[in-house]
Amino acid sequence: MWPWGHAAVGYLLYTTWTRSRHGHPPRDLPTLWLLFGTQFPDLVDKPLAWWFGILPSGRALAHSLVPLVPLSVILYVYFARRGRPEYGVTFAIGALSHALTDALPALLAGEFERARFLLWPLLPHVEYDESSASILGHLASIELSPLLAVELGLGLVVVGVWWRDGMPGLAPIRSFVTERIIGSSDS
Ligand SMILES: [Zn+2]
Repeated sequence: MWPWGHAAVGYLLYTTWTRSRHGHPPRDLPTLWLLFGTQFPDLVDKPLAWWFGILPSGRALAHSLVPLVPLSVILYVYFARRGRPEYGVTFAIGALSHALTDALPALLAGEFERARFLLWPLLPHVEYDESSASILGHLASIELSPLLAVELGLGLVVVGVWWRDGMPGLAPIRSFVTERIIGSSDS
């Protein structure tokens, strides 16, 4: 799944959770934590595998529930003690939904060996053709496929949901850009 697909799935889960649990739409900073969580597995695994050769695959350490679940619990406890449990919840929603949606096509097809990265290193890593893997090469490999069309359609729907929610997360980015970037260039 592409980055916007992970962000879309994570946001739908988060807005559903916070509306049903707390009766209000997503808030700014938890939404940014959610966005970080939805990209976290790829931000960790792709560079460590493709650039540094430390991991055996672009889906290994941060795509595995073995470290992701304890990490999510630790972050939840950390933030809960500081009165911000939503930060931990949103990271967990983002990171865990990323790993599970990456595995979903294989699970739906009954090809469980392709989803075994969910339990790496307890199970062997999944072999991918990553001989020429790079971020640009990854993006250049985009082909119009039914899955891509679904992801793009889902992304558009979620942009509409996000807009209806009041565009949470946009205000802190806008004020950061205004104060730190535009403001510093004026002075
Ligand atoms: Zn991934």
